[in-house]
Amino acid sequence: MIILNGKEVSDKLYNSFDTNNKLAKLVVITIGNDEASKIYVRNKQRACERVGIKFENIIVDENIDQSDFILLIQDTITVDTKYNDYYGIILQLPAPDHLVRIFNEIVPPVFDVDGFGDINFNNIMTTGTSYNIPATPKGIMTLLNNYNINVEGKHVVIIGRSNIVGKPLAQMMLQKNATVTVCHSKTQNLEKITKTADILVVAIGKPKFINETHISDNVTIIDVGINRTKDGICGDVDFDRVKDKCYAITPVPGGVGPMTVYSLIENILT
Ligand code: NAP
Repeated sequence: MIILNGKEVSDKLYNSFDTNNKLAKLVVITIGNDEASKIYVRNKQRACERVGIKFENIIVDENIDQSDFILLIQDTITVDTKYNDYYGIILQLPAPDHLVRIFNEIVPPVFDVDGFGDINFNNIMTTGTSYNIPATPKGIMTLLNNYNINVEGKHVVIIGRSNIVGKPLAQMMLQKNATVTVCHSKTQNLEKITKTADILVVAIGKPKFINETHISDNVTIIDVGINRTKDGICGDVDFDRVKDKCYAITPVPGGVGPMTVYSLIENILT
């Protein structure tokens, strides 16, 4: 069984970047005081520092006026573009729906390094690619590629249809000529479908939900889930129960997570 080691692959890829990116900057806007968000923001800051990208975290109150929020985004972009050659701005999720909608509508596609803005997202959903590709699906494709796991002609089953993982990944897989099935909470006979997967991607946010009863021999499993339990962090897949049946599997932590952060950095720099 092959461990798809996202930490190792991302470390190797970071080392291929020039670490003197004096002209690049990432601005992360955080709304309110979500504890999990703080960890994700810190990880992004560390990744930026690693390759010499400047970093700023703007924290705003969750009751911010819509017009003030629009001004903040516009001002941030206007001020910084004077000094920076490449530059990214992201809205850390979770954030209130109305602010997410505003952000996605007004962020210009080149600055939208998360790829969730309306233009980038529409591009990915219609063509399977865009100026900035959402970091988690991009990281998954990079990871598979690094282990020479070709998706063409394979049956890829994705559980989860969120805008940040399942939907864009399905389009990217289609673009690479995979046969794609997307499952969700209303899917019937889930096990019957997952057993037909050559590659199973799980992004549902339920600890150890997938076990050996869901899979056939030699499947490749991509576990996107990050669940905080009393025993620590675990994925959506019960690693110990599936590992002997798999061809390859991502660990949690150390699989998709580091590839996601790396892909964000790649979006800023390329
Ligand atoms: P989300 O927006 O909450 O969506 C969850 C999806 O799972 C929904 O489509 C939902 O179906 C589906 N689902 C829930 N229960 C199900 C069940 N019993 N059977 C089948 N489908 C089910 O989640 P997300 O934002 O995509 O995140 C998913 C997980 O990935 C979370 O643990 C999150 O922390 C993690 N994550 C990790 C990374 C990373 O870098 N590793 C990045 C992003 C997210 P409906 O649509 O029908 O509700």
